[in-house]
Amino acid sequence: MSVALFPLACRAALLLAACCAGIGSSVAQVPTPAQQQLRELDRDLVEINTTDSAGSCTVAAEAMQKRLLAGGIPASDIRIIVPPGAPKKGNLVARHRGTGAKKPILLLGHLDVAEARREDWVRDPFTLIEEGGYFYARGATDDKSMVAIFLDNLIRYRREGWRPARDIIVAATCDEEIIPSKFNCVEYLLGNHRALIDAEFALNEGAGSLLDAAGKPVRMGIQAGEKMFQTYTLETTDPGGHSAMPRKDNAIAHMAARLARLGAHDWPFKLSETTRAYFERIKVSMVGAPTPSPAPPLTREIMAPVEQVSAQMWPGVPLVPTLLVAATDSRFLNSAGIPAYGLSGMFRDPDGGGVHGLNERLRVQSLYEGHEFLYRVVKLYAGGH
Ligand SMILES: [Zn+2]
Repeated sequence: MSVALFPLACRAALLLAACCAGIGSSVAQVPTPAQQQLRELDRDLVEINTTDSAGSCTVAAEAMQKRLLAGGIPASDIRIIVPPGAPKKGNLVARHRGTGAKKPILLLGHLDVAEARREDWVRDPFTLIEEGGYFYARGATDDKSMVAIFLDNLIRYRREGWRPARDIIVAATCDEEIIPSKFNCVEYLLGNHRALIDAEFALNEGAGSLLDAAGKPVRMGIQAGEKMFQTYTLETTDPGGHSAMPRKDNAIAHMAARLARLGAHDWPFKLSETTRAYFERIKVSMVGAPTPSPAPPLTREIMAPVEQVSAQMWPGVPLVPTLLVAATDSRFLNSAGIPAYGLSGMFRDPDGGGVHGLNERLRVQSLYEGHEFLYRVVKLYAGGH
């Protein structure tokens, strides 16, 4: 019998650390034209199911390609990359060209979402519903809000005729949520199309900008580093026998008893002589090699633009570097020599906001603030006119 252990510790921690929305105003805000354009793109994206079980990242990537073309991005600067043998795991890579004076910046978001069943949710998880100052939908936060903001801002830059000093690359990728995945697409792109996404540094999901219970910003986060995880397979064997004559002493019962003990265990742990002997009865093997992920440096070049825009938008709110108690695709970029920072400007509720769980939500104001924050901060990073 073989049981793959989902990295529950990481997922539960992500729920606490990487979540959304505050107790926002229940009065519906009238969106500006720029916010309306973002909303429409976000709705398009959220309403395409990109779960592993029933959805397709390729369909979402193609829909976003259409949006970019309609927004004036040249077809030659948009690529859809579908890994061989994985027709639903398509990725979109788009580029706004600069003068080339500096190496590009990569803006990364993931198209895929965690599973969501209609019968478990209060509202349809694949319809973007605005209610009481929040957007409700699977991916409303994780991570379609980032993808929608990055793509919409690319269209804004293009329309303004802004010529940055470096290319701005947006990559919307697949299978961030699946660990380990045969098709993690950041890993795939680094291995097979590095030139398409090669950058001096990257911005990605993961920053924990936090509201208090009353919806007041407590801290603005920039994430530099991740706790990481390791997945294990547990196996136990016995001589077997006929199921019509079940014995107390069988592999399923042994495994169940040990999983119950594992669940009750406090992490981190060290094996003592006794626990070593205990676990020696279970064969433990690693699932996939661990991905080393060096923490990216918080240089002045990275921090100064964040400090500047953060002080304009949320004066008096402290800017705090954080380490994510989970893992994102930043680990692949960091180990490939592209420093990746979690930075969204989207403040989240202290309760977790349903990320990876039920009734995921994002404060409407947070989506609009993230849109504006990332628009300004990327402009400072990329320079030019
Ligand atoms: Zn995510």
